[in-house]
Amino acid sequence: MLGLMQDWPLLCHKILDYAAAQHSRREIVSRSVEGPIVRTTYGDIHARAKRVAQALDRDGFGLGDRIGTLGWNTARHMEAWYGIMGVGGVYHTLNPRLFPDQIAWIMNHAEDKALFVDLSFMPIVEAIADKVPSLKQIIVMTDAEHMPSSKLDLVCFEDWIAQGDGDFAWAQVDENTASGMCYTSGTTGDPKGVVYSHRSNVLHAMLASLPDALGMSCNEVIMPVVPMFHANAWGIAMSAPMTGAKVVNPGAAMDGASIYELLDSEKVTFTAAVPTVWLMLLGYLEETGKELPHLKRVVIGGSACPRAMLEKFQNNYDVEVVHAWGMTEMSPLGSLGSLKPEYNHLKGAQRLDIQEKQGYAPFGVEMKVTDDEDKAMPWDGKTFGRLKVRGPAIAKGYYGGAGAEQFDEDNWFDTGDVAHIDEFGYMQITDRAKDVIKSGGEWISTIDLENLAVGHPDVEEAAVIGIAHPKWDERPLLICIRKQGKDPSKEDILGYMEGKIAKWWMPDDVAFVDEIPHTATGKIQKTELRKQFADHVLPTV
Ligand code: ADP
Repeated sequence: MLGLMQDWPLLCHKILDYAAAQHSRREIVSRSVEGPIVRTTYGDIHARAKRVAQALDRDGFGLGDRIGTLGWNTARHMEAWYGIMGVGGVYHTLNPRLFPDQIAWIMNHAEDKALFVDLSFMPIVEAIADKVPSLKQIIVMTDAEHMPSSKLDLVCFEDWIAQGDGDFAWAQVDENTASGMCYTSGTTGDPKGVVYSHRSNVLHAMLASLPDALGMSCNEVIMPVVPMFHANAWGIAMSAPMTGAKVVNPGAAMDGASIYELLDSEKVTFTAAVPTVWLMLLGYLEETGKELPHLKRVVIGGSACPRAMLEKFQNNYDVEVVHAWGMTEMSPLGSLGSLKPEYNHLKGAQRLDIQEKQGYAPFGVEMKVTDDEDKAMPWDGKTFGRLKVRGPAIAKGYYGGAGAEQFDEDNWFDTGDVAHIDEFGYMQITDRAKDVIKSGGEWISTIDLENLAVGHPDVEEAAVIGIAHPKWDERPLLICIRKQGKDPSKEDILGYMEGKIAKWWMPDDVAFVDEIPHTATGKIQKTELRKQFADHVLPTV
């Protein structure tokens, strides 16, 4: 017997239709690439996304066409996404922090037919346009006044959408039709394409909005600092219109002063970004003595949130931190650290111990940790293994069939992370499988060591890698950047760490550097560090 309910396909443009119907006047504020702060509404974005769709359709783009976007978080970028999906096309976010050749490789792999680009990224486009034979049209997300001069044949976004009247019916497609694409950064081998569907995006927006997940609401003012090109801005470009939340887009400016300016002037209540962004903001607040009276909640993910950062936000600024974990392959949210009643009574250090974990899975994400033989490990908060996940907004394969070994027949996806899960479901990442240090047959978590080291008041940033050791196979080397004007010694730092971790986890050596390399999504680039320190000889050898 079948249910007698309506067949209402889960299509992304229904999200924007809803926002326009119910939250039409809610503002979307963007720091524009041209400079000024621009104010628009869900009503406007809906009308203009229709014009984007109409223009794409007129120019011959439609079902299944991959259309790249190289843009900051702005209203125009949102209009481009919804316009592309509205003709049945596939928005394909490109990360401008990658090398131009990598971007060209990714565009060729996806066979992007058109590209929306921000003015800031014109040099990239100039460098790669003739290397992407599938590319037919380049639309610059600006107005006539700001159009750059170029050898390339460029389309001006504002003039282009002004040619239509916006009277356009969204493409009616099956909910499993592809809606978006995003490539992983490819720290091991070539980048791999993740392909979202309308259904997965809608379901992800719903699970992300839940009160104990991102807790989206039309009474919140949300600033996604995490870029749309980094794992879909953690879904906020869809969960915000789904709930009618006001959005404040930071555009290209992510330094402490610019972020603070918008947090303050727009009275942002909730924001999300990777730890590096928050380091800059906290540095700015400390220098200027400014405060965060409006901000209630900050979601931190992409890399482990250091304990010192949790403490600063919560103790000095009265802002609750929600630590989150996820991946491009998971749309991206996988777990969030809101506190269940089992933990909510905890105070001080005990509360921080739980908040340092990456949290528990929301509805729609199943998780387990296994050993190398795929045997599930107990949820005891200490036995760690490979973290595997499955769910309706999690990839079941990569575009073109790469990486098939990461998926099994029951749809479990091997995340490549190493983690443990406690009795209440709180997961803690201890490492990337490829970064974990194997010392005498036992594993040492580099993330734990890094988090501890950055708790030292004179350490700006820390990274730990394994260095070959004749007796133990590998031993940890701690690499630190000193805080400006500070000069801690190796002994100071090791002294600080001593007693806080097992003795055999203590780094064998400390190296000081001026810079630690990062990937295009802000993670420490350990492959690069391993090359840099390939000849390092530990004093314990
Ligand atoms: P990319 O691999 O392209 O950089 P992702 O942002 O999808 O992009 O990276 C996902 C990985 O980031 C996860 O598998 C995990 O290793 C790491 N990660 C994400 N959030 C956290 C977190 N809160 N703590 C530790 N690691 C994290």
